[in-house]
Amino acid sequence: DALGPQIKGRIISRFGQHADVETMAGEVFRCNLRRTVGSIVVGDEVEWRQGNEAMAGISGIVEAVHPRRSELRRPDFYDGLKVVAANIDQILIVSAVVPELSAQIIDRYLVAAEDTEIPPVLVLNKTDLLDEQGLALVETILAPYRAIGYPIYLVSSETGEGVDALKACLKDKINIFVGQSGVGKSSLINALMPEVDLVVGEVSENSGLGTHTTTTAKLLRFPSGGDLIDSPGVREFALWHLPAERIAWGFKEFREYLGGCKFRDCKHGDDPGCALRGAVEQGEISAQRFDNYHRILESMNSDRPTRHFVD
Ligand code: GDP
Ligand code: ZN
Repeated sequence: DALGPQIKGRIISRFGQHADVETMAGEVFRCNLRRTVGSIVVGDEVEWRQGNEAMAGISGIVEAVHPRRSELRRPDFYDGLKVVAANIDQILIVSAVVPELSAQIIDRYLVAAEDTEIPPVLVLNKTDLLDEQGLALVETILAPYRAIGYPIYLVSSETGEGVDALKACLKDKINIFVGQSGVGKSSLINALMPEVDLVVGEVSENSGLGTHTTTTAKLLRFPSGGDLIDSPGVREFALWHLPAERIAWGFKEFREYLGGCKFRDCKHGDDPGCALRGAVEQGEISAQRFDNYHRILESMNSDRPTRHFVD
């Protein structure tokens, strides 16, 4: 047999019929994919074998894929919902506190994140631009999220404030950063990963295949521990068309009330006997979050295409 023993690895990049597999020791091998393995995406844990001789830059073959802990999907024109990344542990929703922190945008990302069932974390960037009064206002907006238990990190990629705490949060996990353009995702990733080019560059140089323009996602390692999956497709993570019940479910503190409404198809508007409205009146659910639920619902029902980008 021209192949070595089957060993475990994970997909750090995927293009055409090939994938780059990283071993537990951190070495990277470009591999073919056995026809029978089915779909393989970045983040997948796989079983693969090394060939005795590298042929045309290919040094192994991927033979099997492990069950996924999570999947990130996005709509594809041809394929419907298409998996773009696997085994993501955490979605970092990045917002800028200046010029203005938008709870509505945070809620849209939270609903989209809850739909994937991958835990979200709120990252508030550009805190260096806040004065004391501004900080107090930001804390008021954040209070409902603290109350329902979302982890929150106030950071500045400019001054480095809060970045060490964020590093600790990313450790031992596969992370993605999402958020509107201009909030500072790239700056933050640079602050966390100063040598990003070194981590990605190694493979294409000795592969003999020339340089690839990888349009699919890539998995990168933070020097301080933890991984990042990044690509335009992943950054465009958004609130796709979800049924109304799924949007309500995406507000996680609503869940315990959802069975209590008088009518099964309650839209939690003016419907009589609405348990959610009752909880808002009792102060158990934040009125800010309840309003945002209705705004998201309206935007989904409005006369627009069936795809809704957040930004
Ligand atoms: P992205 O589109 O989310 O990747 O955002 P960028 O990283 O490109 O940042 C957008 C702009 O915000 C750039 O001009 C950055 O210099 C600026 N910026 C990013 N982070 C901070 C920060 O923490 N403080 C300040 N004052 N500016 C920042
Ligand atoms: Zn209701």
